Amino acid sequence: MAKIKKTPGTKKSRAYAKVVQDIPKTKKAKFQKRLLEWYGEFGRDLPWRRTSDPYKILVSEVMLQQTQVDRVIPKFHEFLGKYPTLHDLAGAHPDDVRKTWYPLGYNIRPYRLHGIACEAVERYGGAIPSKAEELLSLKGIGRYTAGAIRSFAFNKDAPILDTNVIRVLHRIFIGKGDPKKQKTQLWVLSEKLIPRGKGYDFNQALMDFGAMVCTARKPLCLLCPMRSLCLTVSSDEK
Ligand code: SF4
Repeated sequence: MAKIKKTPGTKKSRAYAKVVQDIPKTKKAKFQKRLLEWYGEFGRDLPWRRTSDPYKILVSEVMLQQTQVDRVIPKFHEFLGKYPTLHDLAGAHPDDVRKTWYPLGYNIRPYRLHGIACEAVERYGGAIPSKAEELLSLKGIGRYTAGAIRSFAFNKDAPILDTNVIRVLHRIFIGKGDPKKQKTQLWVLSEKLIPRGKGYDFNQALMDFGAMVCTARKPLCLLCPMRSLCLTVSSDEK
């Protein structure tokens, strides 16, 4: 039988894999358990968490880019009232979509969303695909949005990495350097930390935790369940 040759991987990819290997198993398990327990108690009840319709999840994810949750909620309902399906959105005039979007701002988003709807109708018969490569092939869907759709609509253990998740994972597991320059490691972390079969809850929990506890300006370190695990809190403060 022919010997299977091992592919060694690049120096860089080995270094990234090491980020995860270096995390003690107990720390990983404690983090997962504490995060899911915290989410069970404090997770937010948001309208897009009451659906698994990929179209509705897509609308919520595009609206949530650069916009606070409380501003998104009424517009989410209004938008879906006007364009209840992907076909309805694709059939609308892009300028009408922009008007409906008002006052959310960052106005490239309604055009992008409309473009995604048109492409999905043309290429997938009006269904949002579930495979990462198919989602990423739609113009306007990046790695984060693809991961969000896969985990929130299709229940896959797909990683996400937005500003909240970057902040949480960097503070707890890396603790030094500029997170913006460590995105590859952080993507690896966000993928490897997902407990198998729990991608939906785990990702929602990460986002809530970043928005409610490990916030950008005044993180609630004194009350934080991750305090003893966190590399940003010095050991004499733990
Ligand atoms: S201890 Fe503070 S910095 Fe660390 S995860 Fe908790 S809130 Fe964030």
